[in-house]
Amino acid sequence: MTSDRLFVPSKQEYVRGKRPNVKCILCSVVNKDPKVDKLDIYSSENFIISVNLYPYNPGHLMIFPKKHIESVVELNDNEVLELHKLQVMSINILKENYNAQAFNIGYNIGLNSGASIEHLHLHIVPRYPREVGFIDVISGTRIIVEDPINTVNKLKKLFNKEN
Ligand SMILES: [Zn+2]
Repeated sequence: MTSDRLFVPSKQEYVRGKRPNVKCILCSVVNKDPKVDKLDIYSSENFIISVNLYPYNPGHLMIFPKKHIESVVELNDNEVLELHKLQVMSINILKENYNAQAFNIGYNIGLNSGASIEHLHLHIVPRYPREVGFIDVISGTRIIVEDPINTVNKLKKLFNKEN
């Protein structure tokens, strides 16, 4: 059993759920606020793709508009098409490079839905055949997650190669 990726997260604050003290974390990413971690990997005309701050799985991405909106009803037709293309690109890259076997893709809209960030964001969660939870440990020794910073570096290259 040596083939699995073995990684112990170095940034424990991700696990604890510590958040920077900013009004809107996604607007802060858009505005390159130094208080937020640089987890963005790709920028299109109206959207940013970033690695999720609190990844459910390695390769968990978020696609969000550069403008602060809180619901899909505020997207225009051009933006919907652009967003769709970014989803397709994300799925293809995660399939090829992370060997993702399936995906959960969706929004939480409104704070009553469980959304913790009001700024609209589309989650792309790759699913793998043998998953363990973010901090589950098998046999007391194994943690199979990827440091979000490593994910950023890897995916940034891949996404910017595509276009
Ligand atoms: Zn915002």
